[in-house]
Amino acid sequence: MSHPAPPTISIDALGSSPDFRALGTLPQVRVDLRYASTRNLLGHDLYSPHDCAWLHAEAAAALELSAQWLQAHHPELRLCVLDAARPHRVQELFWTHVQGTSMERYFANPARRSIHSFGMAVDLTLLDAQGHELDMGTGFDDTTELSHPALEDQLAAQGLLRSEHLRHRALLRHAMQHGGWQGIATEWWHFDFGDRETVRARYQLIV
Ligand SMILES: [Zn+2]
Repeated sequence: MSHPAPPTISIDALGSSPDFRALGTLPQVRVDLRYASTRNLLGHDLYSPHDCAWLHAEAAAALELSAQWLQAHHPELRLCVLDAARPHRVQELFWTHVQGTSMERYFANPARRSIHSFGMAVDLTLLDAQGHELDMGTGFDDTTELSHPALEDQLAAQGLLRSEHLRHRALLRHAMQHGGWQGIATEWWHFDFGDRETVRARYQLIV
């Protein structure tokens, strides 16, 4: 299936568009963008000097609702964003690294356009009161089946995930679902907001 070229917006122009909102305007949400550091699958800082701590305004409002739910039910915990708006150019760069490898399934083919590149997807985890990440059984971007929410029960039955891992992941999903986000089968940390085909057809692609 091919998609017509969507309208585009530069990552550096998000601040001058009312359609996007800086993550810094969500005081209850921590931000630790892994692709703006070397702590990622590729070991390179792919974002600097661009500020990628942005989401589409609709997604930011949804994340605010998730953070409010967490604050009300688990005030000791915080959402921590690991990736948000991802310029299409960076998505293409990922693709050249992973194409033909076992990591391929974890990255959207840039021809299909990642929902991250519309500011309508977010990767995140939970932090405890000391600011430490809750143990989810794998780290962010672990490209093994241990990361697959769809396999959690089976992996737990095999002793490959512990009950606390399932509990922590379920908590993250509950918080996100309360904001209207949808998880996916292959990455516990990834959530989409809105209908993906509508997003691909109508929203601005960040380049
Ligand atoms: Zn993601």
